[in-house]
Amino acid sequence: MDGHRGGSIEIIAGGMFSGKSEELIRRMRRSVIARQRVQVFKPVIDDRFGIDEVVSRDDRRLKAQSVGNSAELLARVEIGVQVVGIDEVQFFDAGIVDVCMQLADAGIRVIAAGLDQDYMRRPFGPMPALLSVAEEVSKMHAVCVRCRGAAHYSQRVSGGDAQVEVGDSAYEARCRACYETYRAEKEAEEAAVQLPIPQPITG
Ligand SMILES: [Zn+2]
Repeated sequence: MDGHRGGSIEIIAGGMFSGKSEELIRRMRRSVIARQRVQVFKPVIDDRFGIDEVVSRDDRRLKAQSVGNSAELLARVEIGVQVVGIDEVQFFDAGIVDVCMQLADAGIRVIAAGLDQDYMRRPFGPMPALLSVAEEVSKMHAVCVRCRGAAHYSQRVSGGDAQVEVGDSAYEARCRACYETYRAEKEAEEAAVQLPIPQPITG
């Protein structure tokens, strides 16, 4: 695949703990070894590990630029870049699909990694459209924490019921047989509806 002249879109999809970032880093490093000009982007929302790097769970690191949205990503692509990597692509707005298409049409190899489903097993953000337009899709699997089979789902095990709950400890990799519908903990729900206690006005 490396070194081909035409552009293309490659999607690395899967649940949490499935090695998506490792695979993105591996492909980007191969491109660097092949002396290609590369740029890596990630959405600002993912600030777990630091602003300017993609960090895999086995602590491989890659320099990355954080961008606020798909338009900003497109504007930051430098002239002469041959490979564009995108991590956590599921967090981007719907415009990311057109941006990937524009880049690929311009001859750039686009490699994007992201969660294909949220904790409720719903398709995540722009992922369905990206999977449709991609030349190549890699579905990554984690190991199910219950039965050690191939895990396809990110099972939420703590926290509220927002689609985005950042933090590995809130999730487990689970297979279809071991997946359970998550219900937010009662304490979390009660805390969310509690009103602030009025403070007496002084002075
Ligand atoms: Zn299982």
